[in-house]
Amino acid sequence: MVHPITKYGQPVLETESEAIREFDTPELHKLIEDMFDSMYAARGVGLAAPQIGIGKKVAVIDVSSGEDPEQKLVLINPVIIGQEGTQTSEEGCLSIPTFREPVTRAKRVTVRAQNAKGETFEMTGEDLLARAFLHETDHLRGTLYISHISPLKRDLIRRKIRKLQKANEWGD
Ligand SMILES: [Zn+2]
Repeated sequence: MVHPITKYGQPVLETESEAIREFDTPELHKLIEDMFDSMYAARGVGLAAPQIGIGKKVAVIDVSSGEDPEQKLVLINPVIIGQEGTQTSEEGCLSIPTFREPVTRAKRVTVRAQNAKGETFEMTGEDLLARAFLHETDHLRGTLYISHISPLKRDLIRRKIRKLQKANEWGD
């Protein structure tokens, strides 16, 4: 089921999510399925549960945008355990639509997470996948990518969003 994407301004996006403690439940499988549906519908390459209004530590990633089923990743309770090098490219977020800014992140990132069965795994990604690991793990701590840009640019984006909110052109 496709859920609407929660927009910047909703407290759930800036609150640390709760860890998942019960695995392999119908609720968890349904959440993951809904998150993939919602991510593909919004044409994203990653989605965190708070982005559909659910404050739980679940993220889904598919840097192939649905082209390659083997690239579908589920990260539950993820923790970043390694970062190497740097990369800078434009980053956006489904919860902050229409804006994009260059963000410098690590080039190679290792994440430790659990799958839907509760099994712990570690995975290293580079480039876009490394960026997705960091972006989605940030979401589950209540951090948005605009925290990684200059305060000046961040204020400019916030002002533009406030204008859109006043004009009822932003959504929630
Ligand atoms: Zn995002």
